[in-house]
Amino acid sequence: MSRIRARFWDPAGSKYGIPTYPWRMAPAHLLTMRQLTAAGLRPGGQGVQAQIMWASTRHGAPGVRVAYLYDIRFALPKRVATPAQREALAKANAARRTCPICRRDAGYVLPRHLGTCLDCDSAGVAA
Ligand SMILES: [Zn+2]
Repeated sequence: MSRIRARFWDPAGSKYGIPTYPWRMAPAHLLTMRQLTAAGLRPGGQGVQAQIMWASTRHGAPGVRVAYLYDIRFALPKRVATPAQREALAKANAARRTCPICRRDAGYVLPRHLGTCLDCDSAGVAA
């Protein structure tokens, strides 16, 4: 193991507080949030279980980067909206598109600063 990698090798977390692995050396059951999402999972109730640390010169100044890891054994399937939730969402979105003056679905979310559809606003009805 190279010296740079050894610097971040701390599976017991005695140096960094939580188990820490160099880039590409974390155990297979530990995934980043992005990896969990790609697998259709979410962390569930668990907090961060471990981290990957690596030295990077990207994003300007050189520094140590950290990626947090979650244990796939505690992960849960991604939440899927229930039909009732989807219906409520659709209603809320429809309300945001419906002009209170002409009562039409404008087909777009009404600009908050107008509070009406663009037609009503340019017609000066609201003024
Ligand atoms: Zn209108």
